[in-house]
Amino acid sequence: MASKTTVGKAIPPPKEEEHGYEFGGRIGATLISIGLPIGCYAFAFLCNDVSGCPAPSLLLPRKLFTPPLLSTQSGWQHALSTLKRETGWPGFAGLINTEAVLGTLAWYGLSLLLYVLLPAHEVEGVKLRTGGRLKYRFNAFLSATTILGICAAGTWALGPDFQVWTFINRNYLQLLTCNILVSYFLATYSYLHSFSVKPGNTANRELAAGGHSGNIIYDWFIGRELNPRVTIPYLNTEVDIKSFMELRPGMIGWIMLNLAFMAKQYKSYGYITDSMLMVTIGQSIYVLDALYMESAILTTIDITTDGFGFMLAFGDLAWLPFIYSLQARYLSVHPVILGPTYVLMILGVQLFGYYIFRASNNEKNRFRTNPDDPALAHLEYIQTRTGSKLLTSGWWGQARHINYLGDWIMSWAYCLPTLLAGYKITPSILTPGTRLITTDGMAGAAVPITYFYLLYFAILLIHRQGRDEEKCRRKYGKDWDEYCKKVPYKIVPGVY
Ligand code: NDP
Repeated sequence: MASKTTVGKAIPPPKEEEHGYEFGGRIGATLISIGLPIGCYAFAFLCNDVSGCPAPSLLLPRKLFTPPLLSTQSGWQHALSTLKRETGWPGFAGLINTEAVLGTLAWYGLSLLLYVLLPAHEVEGVKLRTGGRLKYRFNAFLSATTILGICAAGTWALGPDFQVWTFINRNYLQLLTCNILVSYFLATYSYLHSFSVKPGNTANRELAAGGHSGNIIYDWFIGRELNPRVTIPYLNTEVDIKSFMELRPGMIGWIMLNLAFMAKQYKSYGYITDSMLMVTIGQSIYVLDALYMESAILTTIDITTDGFGFMLAFGDLAWLPFIYSLQARYLSVHPVILGPTYVLMILGVQLFGYYIFRASNNEKNRFRTNPDDPALAHLEYIQTRTGSKLLTSGWWGQARHINYLGDWIMSWAYCLPTLLAGYKITPSILTPGTRLITTDGMAGAAVPITYFYLLYFAILLIHRQGRDEEKCRRKYGKDWDEYCKKVPYKIVPGVY
């Protein structure tokens, strides 16, 4: 039995404080909802297989804004037309097409079908404020392995010409648009649907504690209803929209994008580089691990605290698959050969991060689901007045979010395989009709693109740590302060 420290006498749990605005309130929500989709397009265009990564003119801003001598264009017009040419800008109408719309509908339809048809286990979620618990149907790992099995068979038969890979590579941009539109749609649907939540309903429906400020934009963004659900007509199956979107179309879509980029590299060069394998295998393990541990999602703040709004819909369906796969997309055009020394070093980073990430998350999950587990008997904890226990030794005695540190270390292993990134595409003089892809003058110029994930993820985790901290302080009151005294570091032991 784990040893315990009881703080204070058994008195009623502290009353939760009022929620304030997060993410800069309605102004922040508006800027994020418009800015991040534009950011996704910026990455898609500025790192391309038309002129280079980044588009070479970006490195010569003075020249970019200087039109040729006899030109009637202003500096801005010249810059715009140059960038349109260098990025392969297809015009606004070219950002979407019927093929991508049908493909996206088929992808979400397939995810839904596998969710309904494949064997699943049913798990109860954490206790809601209403006192009830929702039931969740889990089979994401089986769904993913089924899809990957079908794709493996297709690739075995057709190689890189397997239609799924060629479809993704042909419609990458349009698929991005479709997933952004799905995010806007789902956020709007969930927001409107939330107005049918009535106090005392028997379906355990409730509003997210921080999601009903009354400000339309903010509530639409942050998520008004905690667990919006829909029942699929004819199939008579209820789908929890948030957990479904969190783990299926976007996460599995991330692996699919990576594999399509791998096929593209093979088709272009006739080989697959060790760097491409490192990125794709490393990220696939990360995703499959999350799907295998599907029920662990139930105690994450996404499920227990945040409503389902644009923030989660866009993050799950557009940002995660399309931004997290940037490295594989880069390598599909510009192959990097690492060699055994770099491979072993990067593998070491990945395994080190994974060990911290998995061991710490497992320790908390096991402690929360079975505190009497003899393997956890050595751990110390605080018994809070809410009834929950907070670990103060083991991994969770090192830092209050040691799991984030492991996750962040792993993100290095996804970026490092691109080394000093940057390439330029020029027509070959020797073989007309072919292109040369070189690092000529570009080495390092794409580092802000292929290492963006590292920086972004650090910001996300630090911000998330702050949000979780606020949530816990609201929930645990003085017990949380006591915990912070015992475990002073937030993410990195001895540093932060
Ligand atoms: P955590 O898994 O870190 O869980 C935080 C919750 O754990 C707290 O709200 C609290 O919940 C409980 N808790 C906090 N301290 C203790 C303690 N000492 N002992 C026991 N329980 C404690 O939260 P996340 O949902 O943020 O992260 C889950 C995983 O997902 C992480 O590994 C993270 O790195 C990863 N992640 C990945 C992202 C990506 O884009 N790749 C994005 C976000 C997360 P309670 O109210 O139950 O006490």
